[in-house]
Amino acid sequence: MGQLLRASTIFLLTFLFACAQIQVPVTKEEKIEAQVEIAVQEWKSWYNDYRRVAPIVYRILRALASTDSIKEEIKRPSKNIGWDDGARRIELKGQNIIDHKALEIIAKRELPDNGYLLIPLPTMPAESAIRPWTWVKEFKFNEKNHIFTYITEDEEIEIPAEGFPIWIRFFVSRSREINAYAAQDKNGYFIVIHRGICQFLPDDNQLAFVIGHEMAHILRGHLGKVKGVNLLAGILGLSVAIFVSPDLGNIIYGGIMAKYSRGQEREADFFGLCFTHLAGYDIEIASKAFITLGSSAPPSELEQFFSTHPYDAERRAYLKKVVKWIKEGKTWHQIIEEIRGESS
Ligand SMILES: [Zn+2]
Repeated sequence: MGQLLRASTIFLLTFLFACAQIQVPVTKEEKIEAQVEIAVQEWKSWYNDYRRVAPIVYRILRALASTDSIKEEIKRPSKNIGWDDGARRIELKGQNIIDHKALEIIAKRELPDNGYLLIPLPTMPAESAIRPWTWVKEFKFNEKNHIFTYITEDEEIEIPAEGFPIWIRFFVSRSREINAYAAQDKNGYFIVIHRGICQFLPDDNQLAFVIGHEMAHILRGHLGKVKGVNLLAGILGLSVAIFVSPDLGNIIYGGIMAKYSRGQEREADFFGLCFTHLAGYDIEIASKAFITLGSSAPPSELEQFFSTHPYDAERRAYLKKVVKWIKEGKTWHQIIEEIRGESS
């Protein structure tokens, strides 16, 4: 009897609540304030992801520059040395009102509609030279002595750039899509890592493998064979070599998802693992990146990822084999020679 009474009370209460819906009135300003709050969190997380991705990319680029073992296998993406001081710039012009307010909160100051906010990346000269979210009016790069000069309201900050003989630009996009890709514009090749993939790959060894995989598409010349990639140059209008466009990922994402062949995907895995290893990461853990993604990320969100990075048992088995060979003491050069010998 008591149970029945309780059930009918719950029913009655639900019914009453449904009848008199509670609606707290919210003004337009209050709504904007809430949107700004979300944007602040987004920008901060984006910066943290950038700080995580950057040292991995730099570590791989430095390793590639200093290794001789697979030199002949790499196609240099550009004849020029890439000069980078590790300062990324967020252009204020063109930011919507929500993002502008969010950036003001983070920078702890009022911001004009133009100029840039600087964010320094770890393991690079900028890290010790500037505070994060410093506003600068403009910047210059001296081609002769490779020094970046940033002009604030009251000073000029000079940061010497590090030269990368094998240079690929990289961006972390604010998109939460679980993906990463390599592309090309008029300034050369670059990779884009979406925030979503950082979230679902908490292990740096595995994130390094995904980054290495995308770099391998560039360094093995897969992109040159993909039609339509050059269209990007016009759409993006990227004029500065190391420029931060926070929504970059979203803009290009739809248009140019490169379709690689199965063979190219396998090759990107092989060299991606190789680059990861040369940079000093644990390739046994790294090689399981796609398993981690497949088992932790929501299936609906992974659809896009696996449609551009088809992963199957064969690919897994093959990576496992390569890890085993390396653990047995074989060099990458030996493995490549052996595979070539078998297939010819
Ligand atoms: Zn791929």
